[in-house]
Amino acid sequence: MDTHHCETGFDPELITRYDGRGPRYTSYPTALQFTPDVDADTYSENARNSNSAGLPLSLYVHVPFCEALCYYCGCNKIVTRNAARVARYIDALCREIEMQGGLFDRSRVVEQIHFGGGTPTYLNAEQLDRVFGQLRDSFSLDTSENRQFSIEVDPRTVDRERLEELTALGFNRLSLGIQDFDPEVQQAINRIQPVGSVEQLVADARELGFDSISFDLIYGLPRQDPERFARTLDATLAIRPERLSVYNYAHLPDRFRSQRLISEADLPSAAGKLEILGATIQRLTDAGYVYIGMDHFALPDDDLAEAQRDGSLQRNFQGYSTHWHCELIGLGVSSIGSIGNVYAQNAVKTQDYEELIESGTLPVRKGMVVDYDDQIRSAIIQSLMCYDKLSFSQIERAFDIRFREYFANELANLDVMEADGLLERGEGSIRILPRGRYLLRNIAMVFDRYLGNTPVERFSKAI
Ligand code: SF4
Repeated sequence: MDTHHCETGFDPELITRYDGRGPRYTSYPTALQFTPDVDADTYSENARNSNSAGLPLSLYVHVPFCEALCYYCGCNKIVTRNAARVARYIDALCREIEMQGGLFDRSRVVEQIHFGGGTPTYLNAEQLDRVFGQLRDSFSLDTSENRQFSIEVDPRTVDRERLEELTALGFNRLSLGIQDFDPEVQQAINRIQPVGSVEQLVADARELGFDSISFDLIYGLPRQDPERFARTLDATLAIRPERLSVYNYAHLPDRFRSQRLISEADLPSAAGKLEILGATIQRLTDAGYVYIGMDHFALPDDDLAEAQRDGSLQRNFQGYSTHWHCELIGLGVSSIGSIGNVYAQNAVKTQDYEELIESGTLPVRKGMVVDYDDQIRSAIIQSLMCYDKLSFSQIERAFDIRFREYFANELANLDVMEADGLLERGEGSIRILPRGRYLLRNIAMVFDRYLGNTPVERFSKAI
């Protein structure tokens, strides 16, 4: 092995060998375990009960619309220009916000908001204003500097004037869908956004006081090769966003219709993808980014890196996040919330979502009440995915168990991974080694008690 791979622990051979399919663990148990047992009544009762602990809140708001189709897309979205359709959705969303707001004490401050999609900036100023106004009427939003209000932005739909509107509403963080700066790649995925316009947008955002800007990049897209992606990284590092996510493109044309518009002959090979990923990790590390875990990188003074140092990092439905103490409310079609020991997901079809709300019912369609064993395993998986380590005594203190007895099988199942240099087991701990950091989900899977009954093709590939 050359030193290039030693520094970051990136080992293509090892990654290829372990490359199975597995959950991304944005929750444990994962959404695949949700059942209709959790309905609007269970959710409401649980939400009201949560007021006695009075934890602060985090809101996720889903806007499913997009103006044009990106061919690689695997999201739950609606490409439309039908204004009546959008208006009906906004009415339903505002009504849901009002109903949800009625469940929570106003003393519970909303410290974190994330607008995701689809394309949240599909909504015009007036529409966004209305949704945000409803949030303000129904919840107590944090007005301090500590608030984290973020929105996913499609750079093609936003200019300086729109950024000004967003700051006026209270947004202070942006997440930009970049994917790749190469014009040929952009053409092959039907998403044209010149690097110059992104540079200008980021310069404007910084001038307007947005404190954290995040870029999403994707590797494995059609027409990509290591040289071209290196140029995308040059442009990215020149802009130097505080956070970077580098996602794997999973080509699953049978599951996602839009991906049939991508020519398979244009896709990089598996080896080519690994080369791009390895080089990317090396470049970002050399440029001073901290590898947070899974697909996420951050500059050392960004909140995410700070949270990893001070122990307040968590994994949730948005990936990695700070503010672990907040309870999460999901608003909008398909959104997932997590309150106390209940996960709840809204209807995933827009029509179903709207009809439920129009009939006066909260649109919760499924979810899960997590039991004691789920909570223990969830804490273990969080620790491994956020901090690359696990202390048995910490788990024993939080839950009344003897770790070595309770997890005797799991610990034995780590033998091969230890022999492969992914991790190191001490007397009372597990430490993930650099080689294991790109295989976090494989390690977490050892502690997942549900995997046996989930068909493996339901998961995306790790790399
Ligand atoms: S990738 Fe994003 S912007 Fe493109 S179609 Fe999918 S949800 Fe819409």
